[in-house]
Amino acid sequence: MDTDYDVIVIGSGAAGLSAAVAAAASGASVLIVEADTQTGGSSRLSGGHFYAADTFVQQQAGVSDSAEQMFQHYMTLNQWLVEPAVVRKYCELSAPTLQWLNGLGVDFPVTGLYQSGAGTIARGHQPEGGGETVVQRLDARRQQLGVDMVLDTRVDSLLLDNGRVSGIRAGSHTATAGAVVIATGGFGANDSLLQEYYPQAYAAGDWRWYIGTDKAQGDGLALGAQVDAAVQGHNRGLLLVTPGFSRDLEVLLPDWLILVNRQGRRFTDETAPYTMLAGLIDHQEGPVWAVFDEQARAAAKPSPVSQAYWVADVLAQKADAGVIMRADTLTALAAEMGCHAAGLNGTVARYNTMLSGAQPRDETFFKKLSSQAQPIQTPPFYAAEVRPAIVCWTGTGLRINDACQVMSQAEQPVSGLFAAGETVGSLHGDRYIGGGGSFGPCIVFGKLAGENAALASKGNF
Ligand SMILES: Cc1cc2nc3c(=O)[nH]c(=O)nc-3n(C[C@H](O)[C@H](O)[C@H](O)COP(=O)(O)OP(=O)(O)OC[C@H]3O[C@@H](n4cnc5c(N)ncnc54)[C@H](O)[C@@H]3O)c2cc1C
Repeated sequence: MDTDYDVIVIGSGAAGLSAAVAAAASGASVLIVEADTQTGGSSRLSGGHFYAADTFVQQQAGVSDSAEQMFQHYMTLNQWLVEPAVVRKYCELSAPTLQWLNGLGVDFPVTGLYQSGAGTIARGHQPEGGGETVVQRLDARRQQLGVDMVLDTRVDSLLLDNGRVSGIRAGSHTATAGAVVIATGGFGANDSLLQEYYPQAYAAGDWRWYIGTDKAQGDGLALGAQVDAAVQGHNRGLLLVTPGFSRDLEVLLPDWLILVNRQGRRFTDETAPYTMLAGLIDHQEGPVWAVFDEQARAAAKPSPVSQAYWVADVLAQKADAGVIMRADTLTALAAEMGCHAAGLNGTVARYNTMLSGAQPRDETFFKKLSSQAQPIQTPPFYAAEVRPAIVCWTGTGLRINDACQVMSQAEQPVSGLFAAGETVGSLHGDRYIGGGGSFGPCIVFGKLAGENAALASKGNF
């Protein structure tokens, strides 16, 4: 059958551009349809970190790693609540795909390699120039390969021909293709989808904000629904913890405060990886506060950890405005917080004992203590509620197999339909694997989806 293109890719973020470049490099004629007036989606705004194992960068750094180790770590961290074949494919293809991206002009300096999540092996790869450079390099290659692109055009439905996906519709326009790749990103900007698929994020109420593009409307879910695609994952994504004073993207908490729950108890190392904190807070089943004293507040200078929230004058203003609580005793503070007073007093007493003496040591949660972490003993005392409320990306989405084919609810690949990137739900469990664990799969599966869509358009898949 004659079609306008071999492959149509919906969305021009990291996943869509990777798909288009890979499909075109395989000899396919390709069209990208992009809803926004510019390319790149959330990928352009992203740090662009790439979580990968056994890469040339790790080898340069002398880090010993393998796809098998990454797979075992990934599955264990997520208690096997992810799709093993898809995870394995990601692990196996992460190094060659990072190399491919490097070949397109994206530098991954050894100095940008870091241990980006819970675990011991450095797998986070920071590209020079962040996500914006990745998008630019992919887009430059797209243009070299002659891939067409239409901007400002939101695909609203798929065309079907005898049960096979055969193209796309955007308003009154249609285009046909041998295969279609959905790469429309997540749904962080869509309140009703957050309510349905990410209630943990929705629960943050008006503290919640999303750091990506306003085009992250979850259109992939609606397009998939048209062909009875299965949706995978619930409450998946990355939330960062914030006191909610403003919309500043800060990832970490300072070590001079303690986090307590309604029992007045600590429940974590307050400097635990950001990939862990939201889940830990969720387990407290109630509000959680950062507690500190006047000495810590007065000494809180802008730092690499915080410029906007945990600094002396901001905290004073917020206390004056009644946004955070301030009291002369811990018992009075507990009454304001609505938490267990004896619990809070006991927690602080225990914490102060550990932090006093010649060799301060957090024997409960093993927090690494800087000189700013001091006993909490100088009134007035403060409590700032914190919530996991900054939505970084969403992880519920279309179910795919390890060839990036969209799976139907009847557990069959939907003919002619592929998906990659944040629109996919098969890869994320209860815990974010670490920095680069969303962007990395976008490139890996974007490239794979493009290659396989090109094959499918020739009837070879
Ligand atoms: C500020 C920021 C920093 C981040 N840092 C990191 C990081 O360092 N490491 C990491 O792993 N992750 C990070 N993330 C998350 C990661 O960047 C994203 O998950 C990833 O870039 C998503 O890529 P994508 O191609 O799937 O979607 P996107 O890049 O969002 O692209 C989707 C595209 O599809 C378009 N689109 C949507 N619907 C339609 C439609 N119906 N028709 C046509 N086009 C449509 C959108 O306009 C958009 O351009 C970050 C995210 C943000 C916002």
